[in-house]
Amino acid sequence: SSWWKSVEPAPKDPILGVTEAFLADPSPDKVNVGVGAYRDDNGKPVVLDCVREAERRIAGSSFMEYLPMGGSVKMVEETLKLAYGENSELIKDKRIAAVQSLSGTGACRLFADFQKRFHPDSQIYIPVPTWANHHNIWRDAHVPQRTYHYYHPETKGLDFAGLMDDIKNAPNGSFFLLHACAHNPTGVDPSEEQWKEISYQFKVKGHFPFFDMAYQGFASGDPERDAKAIRIFLEDGHLFGIAQSYAKNMGLYGQRVGCLSVLCEDEKQAVAVKSQLQQLARPMYSNPPLHGALIVSTILGDADLKNLWLKEVKVMADRIIGMRTALQENLEKLRSPLSWEHITNQIGMFCYSGMTPEQVDRLTNEFHIYLTRNGRISMAGVTTGNVGYLANAIHEVTK
Ligand code: PLP
Repeated sequence: SSWWKSVEPAPKDPILGVTEAFLADPSPDKVNVGVGAYRDDNGKPVVLDCVREAERRIAGSSFMEYLPMGGSVKMVEETLKLAYGENSELIKDKRIAAVQSLSGTGACRLFADFQKRFHPDSQIYIPVPTWANHHNIWRDAHVPQRTYHYYHPETKGLDFAGLMDDIKNAPNGSFFLLHACAHNPTGVDPSEEQWKEISYQFKVKGHFPFFDMAYQGFASGDPERDAKAIRIFLEDGHLFGIAQSYAKNMGLYGQRVGCLSVLCEDEKQAVAVKSQLQQLARPMYSNPPLHGALIVSTILGDADLKNLWLKEVKVMADRIIGMRTALQENLEKLRSPLSWEHITNQIGMFCYSGMTPEQVDRLTNEFHIYLTRNGRISMAGVTTGNVGYLANAIHEVTK
């Protein structure tokens, strides 16, 4: 009876709490721009046609046994091609240690545990701000955290000077977490030129880049273009790690399918690293789930289905980009005295609006619009039907 006496309720997750409050609101006008999941123009969740077709093909599969500890070999191979390039020599040379992960979160966590095991005194540099769960992940892996400058509140863009200074001032050989594209929560990415400078400085300092790539394809609509930062670091001959996820770009959120890869010096090192990643996974979850991996390998292993997927990713990204333009235009039409150009300058699922927590509270209390108090608007929740209402409410609380 007294075993758990000292257990206090854990604080609510700030993002999941927004959805709870939204669901409890009876207002017919209510809008949820808190959730980080894609919605169509009717505000409905989407299952992609390529996924439906893949499921049809794998239905009735007689194989339901365990995947190997490292997951589906075929899925991992196709996933590496997306990040490292279709014809990557590194894949042919077997220089990449890669395992199927429990989506992007699981890939980050597995890497954090791997970092702790083999570099027990290392730290991780994390951007300000970042996806809140990054802090939890490295905390629970017992890796101390440092931060680096990223977002500039006045320009609502990149604090490039601050970022470069922090890279230079970090001890040589530090671990850095980088968002490969569509930075969450800010929607602010370095330009190609800036990535080149970042890559150069990482080389000078001997830092280890770890890319979290949760949104490949979601930024520009083209997974190839969204891998630009990775390709620049590849050209410069870095060794790095990548967390990949199919949650957003294939809409497989709940299937928990992703990949952790670590680029190594040679095949021998990659074999050793992979075996250690598997050994970390074994006592945590033994082996990853089968169904999502089958969906992904069926889609990417078939030229027609892959093309269909590429079209569908583009439709999702284009709808979001269209809603950015619509939201900005609506605010300008209302003669808002503020500049809203950052709505279309930012990219990916989120717009870091610059609204204060008090303004967000007014949006929620007076207009039934739900979002996190940092002012992050999920553009995926904006539709032709609610963009006018949203713009008007934002104007009312910011004028
Ligand atoms: N990394 C970032 C930056 C994210 O925004 C997310 C999801 O919101 C993830 C990782 C992980 O998502 P999942 O574990 O569903 O792949």
